Amino acid sequence: MRASETVAIETTAPEQHRDLTDAVRDVVRRSGLASGLCHVMVLHSTAAVVVNETDDPNIGTDISVALDRAIPDRDGWLHDRIDDNASAHIKAALLGPSELVPVRDGELVLGTWQRIILMEFDGPRKRKVHVQLLPS
Ligand code: ZN
Repeated sequence: MRASETVAIETTAPEQHRDLTDAVRDVVRRSGLASGLCHVMVLHSTAAVVVNETDDPNIGTDISVALDRAIPDRDGWLHDRIDDNASAHIKAALLGPSELVPVRDGELVLGTWQRIILMEFDGPRKRKVHVQLLPS
């Protein structure tokens, strides 16, 4: 069994939500893992991974707008003195870099409306998402 893969994603906007579910599902299927856990982690400090809905793409936009209201750009953040992206770091830290999804019968266990989503806060950039499979 291949226990891990890194998926490359190129974001195309300053803030963006990208559905990773199909790419992660492909990694799980290629691995041959029947039962266990799938850890999905973005390898960057200004993006996050969440489980939520993409059927209505407004939800991802609403999450970004809510975070913009709570964490305005250039609001006196100390890190802006260094590279002007403190709000992106704070948003990424609040959502977190990873999600852990169960695998059963070789498939991701997700609710009907749940998807694995990359949240970009400092794009456009080339992003790497590491998928680690843990057999049980
Ligand atoms: Zn920075």
